[in-house]
Amino acid sequence: MAINKILVLDDSPTMQRILVNTLNKAGFTTVDTANDGDDGLKKLASGGSYDLILTDWNMPVMTGIDFLKAVKADPATKHIPVIMVTSRNVKEDILLAIKSGARDYIVKPFTPEAIKEKIGTLSGSNG
Ligand SMILES: [Mg+2]
Repeated sequence: MAINKILVLDDSPTMQRILVNTLNKAGFTTVDTANDGDDGLKKLASGGSYDLILTDWNMPVMTGIDFLKAVKADPATKHIPVIMVTSRNVKEDILLAIKSGARDYIVKPFTPEAIKEKIGTLSGSNG
């Protein structure tokens, strides 16, 4: 599958910038950002046709796990792969994320290579 447009959710502006820079360097130039789950749902509802979503877990207003569940419950968005990017490195959390529909799980701090590898796996390339 081709990944052209990516949505990144994180309440930390620094983490948003790191993720956007990493994605840009990996060749993904169309990246939008949202500050929390509610913001992310608004971006999706406003017609953004995203091919991939990377979301933080701990965010105010709406957490990443609640956002993930909402995305997967909506027929209009449930096909979009969601990767959780979080510092919650606990087996129960990883299992909950996967059970809730996450395609993959990346633990912070991550390397740019880890991000590229996960997306490469997703898009079927070796990138
Ligand atoms: Mg956070």
